[in-house]
Amino acid sequence: MRPTHRLATTCLAVTVLAFGLAACGGGNGDGDIATPTGAVVETDTHTFEEVAPGVYFIVGTGSIFVQSNAMLVVTDQDALVVDSHVTPAAARALLASIAEVTEKPVTHLVNTHYHFDHAHGNQAFPDDVAIVGHEFTRAMLMTDVMNQPTAAIFTGNIPNQIAAMKGAADAMEDGEEKDQALNEIRVQEAHYVAVGETDPTPPNVTLTSRMTIHRTFEGRDRPIELLHLGRGHTGGDVVVLLPNERVVFTGDLVLAGAAYIGDAYVDEWLDTLDRFEELEFDLILPGHGPTFSDMAQVDSLRQFLADFWNQASAAHEQGLSPEEAIAEIEWQGFLAAAPDALKIHCVQTAYSRMDGDGDPEDADSE
Ligand SMILES: [Zn+2]
Repeated sequence: MRPTHRLATTCLAVTVLAFGLAACGGGNGDGDIATPTGAVVETDTHTFEEVAPGVYFIVGTGSIFVQSNAMLVVTDQDALVVDSHVTPAAARALLASIAEVTEKPVTHLVNTHYHFDHAHGNQAFPDDVAIVGHEFTRAMLMTDVMNQPTAAIFTGNIPNQIAAMKGAADAMEDGEEKDQALNEIRVQEAHYVAVGETDPTPPNVTLTSRMTIHRTFEGRDRPIELLHLGRGHTGGDVVVLLPNERVVFTGDLVLAGAAYIGDAYVDEWLDTLDRFEELEFDLILPGHGPTFSDMAQVDSLRQFLADFWNQASAAHEQGLSPEEAIAEIEWQGFLAAAPDALKIHCVQTAYSRMDGDGDPEDADSE
């Protein structure tokens, strides 16, 4: 299969839990980006970009709040989905959109990790769908994950966000821009209602290091590899590699330039990226933002992680509390606009890694 030549954009990962109105958009741009098949299917709620025959990168159109990307892999036998969006309502819209793209039954949902914006749509999938994820992802989704700091802080911030959006809209002149802002407020209000329905649902099939789902497409082998390359963004990140199509869906383990670090193993993440870079692929499908091939984006992510770790380490050595440290750290990417509570959580997590506590897996291995 011929390699892709698209340019990576500089949109970064701002859609990760975007705090303001910012959103990366669909990433399909002006249509000047070559794709292997070129096909784009648009539904009311989703855009499906066909990155290889029967393999689709899925982004929200903005008509509902989905908060993360997904992937659809069609095979001769069935269809596999990667990541379930942020709420059951968003996942139902995803399933309805998928039904417009393929008649094959969805038999598998893969969770790249446990975070709410990727896994809180799980419950919308029919009972006969295997939900596959790392054992860590299952363990986390079996806890009171709605009150885990990441989900709780993000959800708790939604009313503030809506108020800020309303303030901005009030200051606008009537017109297209204001109409769009008002629509985004409606989308966010509907999202806040949809969160209330969430009943976190863990994977019912788990892996610890790797799993291959063996399928064919148009008579040719289409193995689907689920790989845990080590801890990074969370303790149980899984990437989904299609070795024959040379595409990889990375969740939040590999994003362009910046990623959320509140539950991360930042010190191990760089080694995990080394293992990631040994994989053979031409195109990265990230959990947020548009697809990219330019590995300089991964270098930017490395730099972002190293910068944070070095600053947090210095703060730790100086004996600063997390509350004191957040004022000293130069926050990059979307974290610059994050509420203090979230920054404090990022620092607390980093400190606990430095102290070697707060992690049951570490305790077990010692
Ligand atoms: Zn995440």
